[in-house]
Amino acid sequence: MDFRSDTVTRPTAQMKEVMMNADVGDDVYGDDPTVNELEAWAAERHGFEAGLFTSSGTQANLLGLMAHCERGDEYLCGQQAHNYKFEAGGAAVLGSIQPQPIENNPDGTLDLAKLAAAIKPDDSHFARTKLLSLENTINGKVLPLSYLAQAREFVDQHNLSLHLDGARVYNASTALNIDVKEIAQYFDSMTICLSKGLGAPIGSLLLGDKAYISKARRLRKMVGGGMRQAGILAAAGKLALTEHVAQLSTDHANAKYLANKISQLEGFNVNVDHVQTNIVFAKLDNTVDISSITKQLSEDGILISAGNPARFVTHRDVNQSDIDTLVSKISTLLSQ
Ligand SMILES: *Cc1c(COP(=O)(O)O)cnc(C)c1O
Repeated sequence: MDFRSDTVTRPTAQMKEVMMNADVGDDVYGDDPTVNELEAWAAERHGFEAGLFTSSGTQANLLGLMAHCERGDEYLCGQQAHNYKFEAGGAAVLGSIQPQPIENNPDGTLDLAKLAAAIKPDDSHFARTKLLSLENTINGKVLPLSYLAQAREFVDQHNLSLHLDGARVYNASTALNIDVKEIAQYFDSMTICLSKGLGAPIGSLLLGDKAYISKARRLRKMVGGGMRQAGILAAAGKLALTEHVAQLSTDHANAKYLANKISQLEGFNVNVDHVQTNIVFAKLDNTVDISSITKQLSEDGILISAGNPARFVTHRDVNQSDIDTLVSKISTLLSQ
């Protein structure tokens, strides 16, 4: 039982079957029919002209930012943005792109007035502000559609492009009970992670217009992301997008269930109403020795991340009875 992340899922028998039977070719030559089919299908499905299969979400974001921005350009983002805080500074290191982070609001949005104040004038002192990058979901929170519409208006007004780190965009559309296109429509480019809650072993997608994706494809080769018979992976990705999205509503219900149960434990403070998707945060009183709990749970084959707040993530490979087991074990450990 692994509650550390929704990246820990194992491919199902059906997924291994489609991987085994995938029609393949050399994708660097553009010859892999399964990759080509996934890229074309995903573009159409999400309302973009073109798509690119990448090895990871980090790579999809890096290529996404580099295809929008040249050296000395700048992207606006949140302090908590994955593509600012958790991607080893790749956009700056490899793209010479300056991030301009601003504090995220508690709901994950970025204040548009603060963003406007951060846009640099056209003056040789400054980097050129080119892009706003949002993330949805962000730390498990869903950005409201009305905010996305405002963000679109904002970038149009200021002549910027709009990128979505949509690693968990299907968790957002599931939580809002809308088609994912209703979110995607506001963005010039979007990433989707196939190997988080959707259960593929490897892979992400970058979507955008034709010229943008062709630029990103060149950059993908440059960073060593050109893969050969990648149809084996693309087949799993397509299955994830067509067959595994429905599972996310169960994951969300399980996260609520987990939040309710965990909040009843001594020293675990959870705002159950704040749980919108598959991620639960518990603030711990200093009476709780989370590293010792983590260690003892792991001896029983239950994995959690030690930290304060403690983060628990639900996914297709944990169910309600696993959650019951987790909570009762923690409860026993707390009473010892
Ligand atoms: C996980 C994640 C990524 C990066 O994906 P990897 O496949 O781990 O490189 C990007 N953005 C967000 C919001 C993520 O959660």
